[in-house]
Amino acid sequence: MNKKKSLSAYEKACELIPGGVNSPVRAFKSVGGKPVFIEKAKGSKVFDIDGNAYIDYVGSWGPMILGHAYEPIVETIRRQALDGTSYGAPTLLETRMAELIVSMVPSVEMVRMVNSGTEATMSAIRLARGYTERNKIIKFAGCYHGHGDSFLIKAGSGAVTLGLPDSPGVTESIAKDTLTAEYNNIQSVEALFDAYPGEIAAVIVEPVAGNMGVVLPELSFLKGLRELTTRYHALLIFDEVITGFRLAKGGAQEYFGIVPDLTTLGKIIGGGLPVGAYGGKKEIMQQLAPVGPVYQAGTLSGNPLAMAAGIVMLETLNNNPSIYTELDRKAGKLAQGIRNNLQKTGIPGVVNRAGSLMTLFFTNLSGVKSFDDVMQSDKQRYAAYFQSSLEAGIYLAPSQFEAAFVSHAHTDEEIERTIDASYRALQHLAD
Ligand code: PLP
Repeated sequence: MNKKKSLSAYEKACELIPGGVNSPVRAFKSVGGKPVFIEKAKGSKVFDIDGNAYIDYVGSWGPMILGHAYEPIVETIRRQALDGTSYGAPTLLETRMAELIVSMVPSVEMVRMVNSGTEATMSAIRLARGYTERNKIIKFAGCYHGHGDSFLIKAGSGAVTLGLPDSPGVTESIAKDTLTAEYNNIQSVEALFDAYPGEIAAVIVEPVAGNMGVVLPELSFLKGLRELTTRYHALLIFDEVITGFRLAKGGAQEYFGIVPDLTTLGKIIGGGLPVGAYGGKKEIMQQLAPVGPVYQAGTLSGNPLAMAAGIVMLETLNNNPSIYTELDRKAGKLAQGIRNNLQKTGIPGVVNRAGSLMTLFFTNLSGVKSFDDVMQSDKQRYAAYFQSSLEAGIYLAPSQFEAAFVSHAHTDEEIERTIDASYRALQHLAD
């Protein structure tokens, strides 16, 4: 595969942008080699500037559940742009968006739009602190909630990929208010509630962890979080930036039947434009300015382009429940195909899957259920598998600690091609 143009584009980008990228994982640092530069995308495919085509399982890290450049969304963006791209004043689009989110996501009675998942989680914990009048939060090792200071403590995603789970620049006084517990270990949460009585404002969790690779929650763990937070008068925040509208139209909370107090959203709700949202019980949301005292604002919040695109996205998902059955079927087929390949080639590994999210962990363990399990994975093996896949025209996340995203645009034929390519990549590892 010729990647000459990408190579020189990367050299130039590195002169001008730190690491040549605007988000760290894109730099391929943990898998080696240089990133490919994307020129365009359509459906399940991305195309690089050298003209190579790839079946894409990154999907912009989640938003592209209907595939790239989905025609009704593109058309809506085009039409909206002609009417202006930002007004800084209320629009009907924002109310329609709120109406859709409230009708689809069980815990959300009111919602506030922001511009990214990071803003959503930062604002949600400020609200939780304001509402409870407490300072500390509990997060889980390996979970990622964006790059807000309070969350860069034992964080997942790029932070764990680059081996930087705690970032310089986060002050000690902020770090001391973030307590860390173990995913799928309810005792570790209870111990923190015991150790800090009356101090914990909220527990924030990815209801299916996606940012240490996909790790499924035990149902008893999620139920335990609901019980503990209720007992100790702390808020339960589901960070559904990945799982929202992906696992089900009502996200993981619908999928598992557990209702948090606050929910953070992003990715899919923007239809590929920059957006985030947080919502929950009316009584809590009414604490936000201008009604209440907790301040949060945004020049581009509720941006008409993002709202218009997101509305088409959510209406499509809301009106077509078969999308979720199809996503589950296709992702199930892919996961099973990869499991069969592991068996045939004798390469040890575990495929974790929740709906259209999955991760192949290169590990000798029989299951991957915690961050400790995740950390035993063989990153070198993943790097080699990633490179073989890329050469075969399969674009995977450039990190062992991320999810693969299957979209509605992936065809059965593409899933089969991916399984074949995975077999060859695994065979290569076995040689
Ligand atoms: N929360 C979760 C669960 C995420 O996966 C991410 C991003 O990957 C974020 C928050 C942050 O979202 P953003 O990158 O839009 O700021």
